[in-house]
Amino acid sequence: MLFSEANQTASSYKVLARAYRPETFEDLIGQEQLVSSLKQALSNGRLPHAFIFSGIRGVGKTTTARILARCLNCETGPTITPCGHCGSCVAIKEDRHLDVIEIDAASRTGVDDMRELIEAGRYKAVSGRYKIFIIDEVHMLSKSAFNALLKTLEEPPPHLIFIFATTETDKIPTTILSRCTRCELKRIDNNTLAKHFADIATRENATISDEAAQIIARASDGSVRDGLSLLDQAITTSDKNVDAQTVNTMLGLMDKATILPFIEQILIADTKQALTLALGFYKNGANPQKIVEDSLEAIHALATFQFGESEEELPSYVISARNDIEHLAKRSNTPQLLAIWEHLILALTEIELSPSPLLALEMAIIRLCQTLKEQQLTSSSPNTPGEDQRKPQGPTQQISTTIAPVTAVSIASPIQDDPVETITVLPKTMEEILNLLIEHKEVLLAEQVRRDIRPIHLNGTTLQIALHTNADNKLGQNLSKALAHITGDSWIIDVQTQSVNPTLLEAQKMQDEALHAKLLSHPLTQSAMEIFPGSDVRTLLKH
Ligand SMILES: [Zn+2]
Repeated sequence: MLFSEANQTASSYKVLARAYRPETFEDLIGQEQLVSSLKQALSNGRLPHAFIFSGIRGVGKTTTARILARCLNCETGPTITPCGHCGSCVAIKEDRHLDVIEIDAASRTGVDDMRELIEAGRYKAVSGRYKIFIIDEVHMLSKSAFNALLKTLEEPPPHLIFIFATTETDKIPTTILSRCTRCELKRIDNNTLAKHFADIATRENATISDEAAQIIARASDGSVRDGLSLLDQAITTSDKNVDAQTVNTMLGLMDKATILPFIEQILIADTKQALTLALGFYKNGANPQKIVEDSLEAIHALATFQFGESEEELPSYVISARNDIEHLAKRSNTPQLLAIWEHLILALTEIELSPSPLLALEMAIIRLCQTLKEQQLTSSSPNTPGEDQRKPQGPTQQISTTIAPVTAVSIASPIQDDPVETITVLPKTMEEILNLLIEHKEVLLAEQVRRDIRPIHLNGTTLQIALHTNADNKLGQNLSKALAHITGDSWIIDVQTQSVNPTLLEAQKMQDEALHAKLLSHPLTQSAMEIFPGSDVRTLLKH
């Protein structure tokens, strides 16, 4: 009567979790530290009379308890390597060992149940060395049940061993805790879980993609049992061929390509739309961490796309969403992508630390869009008179104020080999020239332009510059050639012997320093530095 429900609970586990339930310490995953101390206790024969195994659900608490029971009662033991086939080992496996009793405290909370159990504990073991009581969810016991238990724990008979399992140690009276050896089972990390799921899929003659195994691992949140239930379901619904799409559909997660419209709103710094889309993902079941992780992956794809990475290097969804990615890659520039990347990395930490991950995500989006807006302003607005004189004068501003806006649209010359680019708006600032070069994958040239050119004046397709002392003396020529190729117009690059104007790189550095100093003195930054000691706001401003 007392023990029938425990058996029922055990048999209602999902098929895979039951079939692959570890039977030895070697089979347990992710609990190396605990296993090593249990082995040590078994080897030196100094066993405590009560253990308490704590940890999240499905992490292996009762499984570890059963392995320990086998170690103690195996006919070849006590041993750290139970044989697995003696009468005792088999009986424990089949939940019918007379001396190994597992009960679920959630359904046996009362003092009478505890008294019945304790009464049974007074008699010596029938077939094994030890009588072992495994009490799952022990925190559910009533106060009087705990009191009844306490008396036995104070003077335990030598043949009796208690193994308590709980998800909530803080609900257990300290009088009980202080009489137990506490063992904490760790939440299992995603890579270990993913590898475990892939192994089990193989043993089930099923295939599973790395991505699918990772998604299941993330969704199971450190719990092997939850993960195995998901894997079970995925193998069944996919007819033994588990891919990311199957798992996403099963979990109600979004298809990764749906992140792209969100990235687009971020790129144009539309805070409201970006927030709406993020909330939509969340309502559809994607957690904030997943939204940020998918965004990071998309940003990485955009950046690699801009640098002309071969298709094999890109995630598969990027190839199928190629047009969207290409569109976004054209609308974005490397500094923007780097800034977004750094903000998203920061957001991951904040989401992890925040009591409300959704709020942390929303605040991160607001901050990111704000930064991008400011970035756009500082790179395009001319200086207004009377503005803070200490603000560094970037070459961009100088050029913008000295020339009238150029709106000329030129028809591409037939030399151009990219058929998509039929019209190109002429760049109006040195920064736009730089972005144009990056967009057209002239990465090395762009770097030289940023580092070695002192811009003096830009008018239409005539650019007056001076070169940094270390510059390649063909830089003017190369730039003229590249711009002609990109815009379809011929360019005159007039190289002067010298100029005091800063290069784009120097201007950016000065701007960063000024902004950094300003931000450091801001009260919000001060409090952020207290929350994240050692953090440097500079890394956020680098771009
Ligand atoms: Zn055995």
